[in-house]
Amino acid sequence: MSESFDAVVIGAGPAGEVMVSRLHAAGKRVTVVEAELIGGECGYWACIPSKTLLRAPEARIEADRAEGVSGAELNWPALRDYRDYMIRYLDDSGQVRSYTNQGVTVIKASARLSGPGTVEAGWSDAERRAHGHRHRQHPADPADRGPGRRPGLDQP
Ligand SMILES: Cc1cc2nc3c(=O)[nH]c(=O)nc-3n(C[C@H](O)[C@H](O)[C@H](O)COP(=O)(O)OP(=O)(O)OC[C@H]3O[C@@H](n4cnc5c(N)ncnc54)[C@H](O)[C@@H]3O)c2cc1C
Repeated sequence: MSESFDAVVIGAGPAGEVMVSRLHAAGKRVTVVEAELIGGECGYWACIPSKTLLRAPEARIEADRAEGVSGAELNWPALRDYRDYMIRYLDDSGQVRSYTNQGVTVIKASARLSGPGTVEAGWSDAERRAHGHRHRQHPADPADRGPGRRPGLDQP
């Protein structure tokens, strides 16, 4: 199936999101092709989770150093749960809905430039395997919420 748009934005990280919003505001017919999650690494794997995890130890150290304060403890399970909340349990369905409601087409796939003015969206077998592996760690999936090691999610 092929479709025409004024602009195709590949990747909806912070940079792509700015592109989408400016093109949309300019009245362009826009589609965004995102292989993982709308928001990119910042919202799910980088800025937000790292700052969320860093704040509690920072506050504990500050408390330790402040005269007249005692007993500040790090509660890792609570912090981990808060981190999962802050990264929306790796669930971007709200972001997808918001774009769709604005009239921006969202395609969840890997994109490549296939010719002048042409973008192809889909999955190679290798990409499908890599994507499946990464998203098996999706904490929004009830199957993954049971006991078991989730690298990067269960370890501080
Ligand atoms: C641990 C860590 C902490 C950080 N903390 C901060 C911070 O506090 N403040 C700050 O300003 N920056 C921080 N950064 C940097 C910040 O995350 C990046 O600068 C920012 O995410 C870059 O945005 P981007 O849109 O260029 O790329 P990305 O966020 O990487 O987004 C690119 C998107 O494109 C998609 N994509 C890529 N190729 C394709 C394709 N072929 N088809 C379809 N989709 C595709 C990807 O899936 C991804 O969603 C941090 C980075 C790390 C690693």
